Amino acid sequence: MIKIQENIDLAPYTTFRIGKTAEFFVVVKDLKDLKEAINFARENKKPIFILGGGSNVLISQKIKGLVIKNEIRGMEVVERNADYVLVESKGGEPWTKFVNFTIGHGLYGLENLFLIYGTVGAAPVQNIGAYGVELKDVFHHLKAIDLKTGHEKIFSAVDCLFGYRDSVFKNKLKGKYFIYSVTVKLKTQPDFKLDYISLSEALLKKGIKEPRLRDIINIITEIRNNKLPNPGLLPNAGSYFKNTEVSERKFNALLKKYPEMPSFKGSDKKIKIPSGWLIEKVGFKGKKIGLVSMYEKQALILVNHGGADAKQVLILAAKVKTAVKKKFGVDLEEEIRVI
Ligand SMILES: Cc1cc2nc3c(=O)[nH]c(=O)nc-3n(C[C@H](O)[C@H](O)[C@H](O)COP(=O)(O)OP(=O)(O)OC[C@H]3O[C@@H](n4cnc5c(N)ncnc54)[C@H](O)[C@@H]3O)c2cc1C
Repeated sequence: MIKIQENIDLAPYTTFRIGKTAEFFVVVKDLKDLKEAINFARENKKPIFILGGGSNVLISQKIKGLVIKNEIRGMEVVERNADYVLVESKGGEPWTKFVNFTIGHGLYGLENLFLIYGTVGAAPVQNIGAYGVELKDVFHHLKAIDLKTGHEKIFSAVDCLFGYRDSVFKNKLKGKYFIYSVTVKLKTQPDFKLDYISLSEALLKKGIKEPRLRDIINIITEIRNNKLPNPGLLPNAGSYFKNTEVSERKFNALLKKYPEMPSFKGSDKKIKIPSGWLIEKVGFKGKKIGLVSMYEKQALILVNHGGADAKQVLILAAKVKTAVKKKFGVDLEEEIRVI
């Protein structure tokens, strides 16, 4: 039997520690809970908002409707053969616990995505990625529950329309499905992706020529701990903006003016410019406005120094966007979901 609560403050359920109240709030632990919650919303004509670990959201207004917090857990190896292994996790599992589970089974494929915050169920929503790997590279399928009918539907990678921090669940099917479980296809032999510059540099520096899984995990842990603020100490939601993808023409024009501008390959023949660099160049890296700033070690991350509200975050983000547009003529796009 689920317990529906009223007027719950959502700030403690987000890594930004910022939020308004939810009209109704429920934690679901299994499929039966979820179906009950969907029935409650249907009977009371309330919209549903799904919350995982709250590590990619800025809740700037009261949520009128039912917030369903996903705590449906369970992980298992579902198929194993000589070349690959399929591993399924329920959506409420913490992502890093899932990565640890696969590593514990001696499987390869999720190592570059180690230590990303949030839940497994949210990972396909923005096709999480780090250090040259995205979820789509190992994704097999997911099971989702239609929030209107309560029926299950299976989505293949093609159905998910994955893109750079993007999927069908952020667009056409936004708010329509609850991602119940995710299955990934992992390798039984090493096939490391080590092209990403900070990763290859770290391996070189340590003199590791033939890395083992444990080496990659240690290096990713080191890089992330050095560069990213721990939300427990300095609340944030990871990258506030996406990296900026531009056409080759636009890129060449910018490069003429800023020859030192870093870049890497984007999607569809586009070129990605690190938005953290753009933000630094307009003077916002580490600059504190009120109780918020763009993080001093990684300008892409907007941090709450304690007690900030959503309005302060939105004001800083708008200032940053305006400054970047004025200097470089490009539009920064939010990576986090502003509600
Ligand atoms: C310090 C830090 C570092 C980070 N580093 C990275 C990184 O390297 N790469 C990266 O890609 N991201 C990164 N992130 C962002 C974040 O961890 C991911 O986006 C993560 O997948 C969000 O998971 P969540 O469970 O917290 O989602 P939430 O913030 O709870 O929700 C995010 C969105 O997904 C929807 N959603 C959540 N669960 C479900 C579900 N079961 N079904 C349907 N919709 C759902 C929500 O409604 C919301 O729209 C970082 C965040 C932090 C705080």
